[in-house]
Amino acid sequence: MKKNLIGLDRDELLTEMSEMGESPFRVKQLWQWLYNKGETDFDKMTNLGKPLRQKLAENYMISRPRVVVEKNSSDKTRKWLVSFSDGEQVECVYIPEEDRGAVCVSTQIGCAQKCAFCHTGTQRFKRNLTAGEIVGQFMVARDSYGEWPTPTDEVRYLSNVVVMGMGEPLYNYDNLIKALKILMDPEGIALSRRKITVSTAGMADNIPRLATDAGTKLAISLHAPNNEIRNKIMPINRKYPLEVLLEACREYQALLPHRQYITMEYVMLKGVNDSLEQARELINLVKGLEVKFNLIPFNPWAGCPFECSDMRQIKKFAEVLEGAYYAAPIRVSRGQDIMAACGQLKSSFSENRNVPQS
Ligand code: SAH
Repeated sequence: MKKNLIGLDRDELLTEMSEMGESPFRVKQLWQWLYNKGETDFDKMTNLGKPLRQKLAENYMISRPRVVVEKNSSDKTRKWLVSFSDGEQVECVYIPEEDRGAVCVSTQIGCAQKCAFCHTGTQRFKRNLTAGEIVGQFMVARDSYGEWPTPTDEVRYLSNVVVMGMGEPLYNYDNLIKALKILMDPEGIALSRRKITVSTAGMADNIPRLATDAGTKLAISLHAPNNEIRNKIMPINRKYPLEVLLEACREYQALLPHRQYITMEYVMLKGVNDSLEQARELINLVKGLEVKFNLIPFNPWAGCPFECSDMRQIKKFAEVLEGAYYAAPIRVSRGQDIMAACGQLKSSFSENRNVPQS
């Protein structure tokens, strides 16, 4: 099979080009075709010269994940079920704000973390996604909105990336970093590090490295004010308990050359983690860190053992945090009608799942 150019970083592209006897200058040109213009046809790469175009077409392909279905929500959220070359599938979502928006990408097929409230945890972990498959999800979104060549920051519609889809990004670290570097390259897709958020269940070992390797925004799926509760709902907490996780967050902030908040995600589970006393415990827990909270109303799924907290309780919980001068917005659930909301990424098209699909 021909090698896919999408997902190769600049060094790898340079190696490929020098093996073909081409000058390093070609890498720059090719890079711009691939990631700035989004070109998929070698023949249209007019500044490359016909013999090179032919050689490229003989040896390489430029391919994206295949879009199996596209769904549009009444609230303008758009979701794609995409399929990779081995037939494995993930869903990606575009969540528009007023004049811009975020593409939510996945990093693994299934997930090994088994957080009790997350639907992905019921799906068997199959494999890591490659850098090309991660970047490819964003490129599919750009294809869908016709957002090529890369627009300037002011006018772009697909302005942000949130690594909050299926899988634990920090357990697919090398491919994640490679993908982030491709997304951030100024001559290509050109997303600034401030427009990318990596969300982790708490794989503490790789958190400080992320500061120096990518420097993106960081979100932590905190979800509990103490180890006792966190152990019950997030098995990863047994390996990386809160004190270790928060220390890694401190290191992350110390390593960044600029000030940046860490977002503490907190899924609101009725009677589990939503009391006002727990809100106060939470304030104590994050002391010394620059954080803001993001309260996520729990999205139930068939067979899950939790209920979402009442909205009144969520608001009171937010008020306690705000009383201590923390931002604590309540996340508005988007794309409910197309099952695009947090923790709902799943598809009746997929096979080999451990639970029946609703
Ligand atoms: N593994 C990463 C990223 C994927 S999950 C992480 O854990 O951060 C993205 C966010 O959705 C996480 O905060 C996760 O805890 C949350 N989430 C998962 N299932 C959910 C559900 N059913 N309702 C609301 N949020 C959920």
